[in-house]
Parts: sequence; C-alpha cells; structure tokens
Amino acid sequence: MPSTREFQQTLGKVAGFTGTALHTGEKATLRLHPAPVDHGIKFRRKDLQDEPTIDAKIENLKTVERATTIGEGSVRVHTVEHVLAALWAMGVDNAIVEMDANEPPNGDGSAQAYVDLIRKAGVVTQEEPRKFFDARDTMHVESRTGALLVLLPDDKFRISCTQAGPNNRFTQFLSMEVTPAAFEREIAPARTFVYYEYVKPLMDKNLIKGGSLENAIVVRGEAVLSKEPLRFPDEFVRHKILDIIGDLALVGRRIRGHVVAVKPGHASNSDLARLVTREQARRSALAVSRPIPTGDGGLDTDQVMQILPHRFPFLMVDRIISFDTDTKCVGVKTVTINEPFFQGHFPGHPVMPGVMQIEAMAQVASILLFKLAKASSRIGYFMSADEVKFRKPVLPGDTIFIHAELIKSLGERLAKAKCHCVVNDAIVSEAELMFTFLDK
Ligand SMILES: [Zn+2]
Repeated sequence: MPSTREFQQTLGKVAGFTGTALHTGEKATLRLHPAPVDHGIKFRRKDLQDEPTIDAKIENLKTVERATTIGEGSVRVHTVEHVLAALWAMGVDNAIVEMDANEPPNGDGSAQAYVDLIRKAGVVTQEEPRKFFDARDTMHVESRTGALLVLLPDDKFRISCTQAGPNNRFTQFLSMEVTPAAFEREIAPARTFVYYEYVKPLMDKNLIKGGSLENAIVVRGEAVLSKEPLRFPDEFVRHKILDIIGDLALVGRRIRGHVVAVKPGHASNSDLARLVTREQARRSALAVSRPIPTGDGGLDTDQVMQILPHRFPFLMVDRIISFDTDTKCVGVKTVTINEPFFQGHFPGHPVMPGVMQIEAMAQVASILLFKLAKASSRIGYFMSADEVKFRKPVLPGDTIFIHAELIKSLGERLAKAKCHCVVNDAIVSEAELMFTFLDK
C-alpha cells in the first residue's frame, strides 16, 4: 500500500458554461461549486423548487440505458457519467454540480468541456485524508450482452479495456493508469460514439433531440461519420474508459485496483460499482468497533445525565465520545432490542423510529449548547428541524454515532446545529436543528 497519505480535494472557485443537452436538445447551464470535506459529489437542480440535490452514489442509480441516470424521490439527472469522470479523474472528491436542466450540457460528446471548467476553477487540497476502496480479492461482473468486468488488486487505479462493436468491428484495446495528467491527455477528448443501426430508431422516435455530429461520432457500417476527424485512431476504447471512470465514481471512494473490462457498458459498469459498494459495506460492518474513550476526551453516562434532564426511556445518548473544538461533538447510542419503542414499531419488524433519531441528535446538540451557555444563566430549547432525511433503517444491534456541529449563532437567542447519525460508516439520518435560549 502507498505510504503517502492522500488528501481530499475540491474546486478553487465556481466555474460554469452553457451548452446543449443531448437528449432534450435544450440549452443548459452547468456550474461547478466547491464543497466541504466528506461531502462527495452532488448534483443540484437549480431549475426546481427548493433546488433539490442528488448524491452521486450508486444507491441513487435509476437507469443505465444509453447513459447513466441518478435520482432521489421524483428528481432525476440524466447523463451524469462524463462530468463525474472528469471530476473524479482530475482529483476532485467534493463538489456540487449545479444545473438548470435535467441533463448537463453535452459539449462535444467528450469530457473536454468539463476538464476545461475544472482547470478554470482550479483544484485545491483539503484537510481530511481521502477514503479508498482497496481491491483485495478478485471481483467480477458479467452481463448477458457479453460484458465482463474484473477488478484485481493493485496499488494504483488502472483500467485495461477491450471494446468491440457489432460483429467485432472496431475492436480496440487500451491499458493505462488513471492519473489526472493521463486522463486529460488520453481520455478526456474521446467523444461519444454510436452505431447507426442502434440510434436510427431513437432518432425516428425523436428521443435524442440534441444529438448531432457536433456531439457524437456515428458509425455506419465501416464508415465513421463525425464533424471532425477521429482524435485518436482508437478513440472508441478511450471513450469506453471515460464511461467506466464516470460510472465507478458512484462508489464515492477512490478505488485502488485494476479494472479489466471486456465490451463494457453502463449496465456492467454500474454492476461493478454496486458490487464494490456492497463489499465496502460488508468490510465496514466487520471492522473492529471504534474504541470508546472515557475521561477527558468525552463524557460518560453519569456526566451526560448531569447535563441532560432526560431519563429512561427518553435518554437517547449513552456517552459523548469526543469533542472537537467547542462546536463539534460525537455521541454514541447502542440500540438494543430492549428499547421500548421496538415493541410497537413494528411487531415482528423492529425499526428505530426516525423521530427518536432526531431526539438523539437534539440531545447531543444540547450538550454542545450547554457547554456554550455554561457561563451564562440561559438554557437552550429545541425549536425546529429542517432538511430532515432518513436514509437507512436503524435496527436492533446497531451502534449509532451521533454527530452534531453548531453552525450558526443567530444573534443572542438562536443557534443552529447540523447533525447526522452514522451506522457502519453510512449516514442513516440527518437534520438541521434550531434551538432558542431562554433564561433559566
Ligand atoms: Zn459516454
């Protein structure tokens, strides 16, 4: 394993451009924004009410026909793979991709426009180390269409790809280590290509309104139709590698491993992303539980109960395991089958109620407020909850790590805390809580 620690990166500033979306044919504007550590890459639909965001995570994958679509609730973003590939390969871990349409502007069918944008915005290093997925054993996925992807252990991120068209026309092979420099030079300029026999029916149905020789290469028989000549003799396999990078970015961790791909497509790429994510979840579940410190680092149950007035069955924090400055802390709650709420929520199918998780967040945030207000004679009261999301069920046997951070003091009387609950290294719920101070 490499000994040097790699740190997360984001963009230096906001940068954007306007172009045509491939499937709708409409004008769309895309802006890349910097984002804090551990944020990952999220898409934001600026054209919709409340500007919803979608995490670029495999859990949010919706369809893989022709392009990769992700969504949450009823909100979708289509054709995310090229902008994701550019961000990921250029070393950007945290960013917001803001768009005023359901699809990014397409540029010329390659990732060049996005690389130019990232160059314009600049890439800056952040304080937290990167998270990796290290391939340990060989993993593979296969599809009925003949796609085969194998992930082998490697201390770099490499891709070796064989692409083949109908009747094995245009068979091409390329193997490379994916670095920002190699991506920019060898992969980013490679354009989307389509086989005429596949797109003809779509064009007839008017499904690719923005599609033209401006933004894709069309292959008809032995003929290659494109606005400008091929940029590489093996441009097709290079674009296949571009798509693999973009689809695997949905893992949300940097992969150290060698992807060997034969006739890959979005379906098999995302199958591999799902397999890797599942393996990561399995490893996290097996990981030795975190040591829970006592003494100066945190608060034990007695100390928690001296601060919080809550008692059984409403004390939702067992201990505070760490304070990070005066504005951040982490509490822990072990959820057992003996919790009274499991009896009715639900019989035979115990799931921790979401409101109890919010209560746990509020209690941990209250401890921060208590520290803050200790010198004064005021006490903080829970007033409202915003941006509440429940992402995964919490079950008996789970240990919840409750993170709270005071993000705003609004005047003398109000404070806001950003909180989230983590089980097995995955966020299970989050909320922004507002508190008001009253005199004791
Ligand atoms: Zn593509």
